[in-house]
Amino acid sequence: MNFFGDYHTHSRYSDGRQGIENIVHAAFSKGLLEVAITDHGPLAAVIGVKKQESYLDIKEEIYQVQRKYPNIHILLGAEANIRDLDGTLDLDEEIMEELDILIAGLHPYTWPTSIKDGWSIMAGNSLRRLGPRFQKEAVKANTRAIVAALNRYPQIDILSHPGLFFKVHIEEVAWACKIRQVLFEINCAHKYPPISDIIEANRVGVKFIINSDAHFQESVGNLDYGSWIADKLGINRNTIANRRSGGGYKKWSKKAKDCAYS
Ligand SMILES: [Zn+2]
Ligand SMILES: [Zn+2]
Repeated sequence: MNFFGDYHTHSRYSDGRQGIENIVHAAFSKGLLEVAITDHGPLAAVIGVKKQESYLDIKEEIYQVQRKYPNIHILLGAEANIRDLDGTLDLDEEIMEELDILIAGLHPYTWPTSIKDGWSIMAGNSLRRLGPRFQKEAVKANTRAIVAALNRYPQIDILSHPGLFFKVHIEEVAWACKIRQVLFEINCAHKYPPISDIIEANRVGVKFIINSDAHFQESVGNLDYGSWIADKLGINRNTIANRRSGGGYKKWSKKAKDCAYS
């Protein structure tokens, strides 16, 4: 399958090992028409951007690089962290306004908004080895946090690697994606979600996006895994937002479609 763009990459502003120009150069060399720089939100320890304003610096840098690469459209995004059971993200609405694309996901070592929620989501997950009761509780909390985030922020375009690091009830998460028109990501770096979850999400009727989640220049635009799995499972190509014939960002993003953010 040919792709229009890769909409999930990380630069040195968060935990990537590449500059913005490296990402753009790699994407352009692979024949992509669009690429998004989507660094981690600030409240995931170690891996996040230093502060929210870093996105404004990235925006400025994108503007400069864009002039050097007129034939590939560079987008500014963020992979925000879901922090609690109410779905709170680690970005202010004013920063979200600056972005072209908003990705949300659960990540380890994210600062929770309260000890109680931190316990349910973070500690609950580390305790899951202790037995099925803890595991059940953790799955419930993780699912609740994601669904709450999707309901609360209509700006979210993509749910990154559903179920990675934190187990979720995949059918519930898939329904939330479908209802809130959030793309369900097939993540090529982590080869995630597993096949059974992709089948389940497809049954629910989500729209997919296949991303590299590249942290290194060599991985930008590496979408073969997603393409392979989608074909293997007979997923209808029209449900894959970033297929080449899909028309790219302006056809699927909330911002470009000028959806009512209400
Ligand atoms: Zn992630
Ligand atoms: Zn990522």
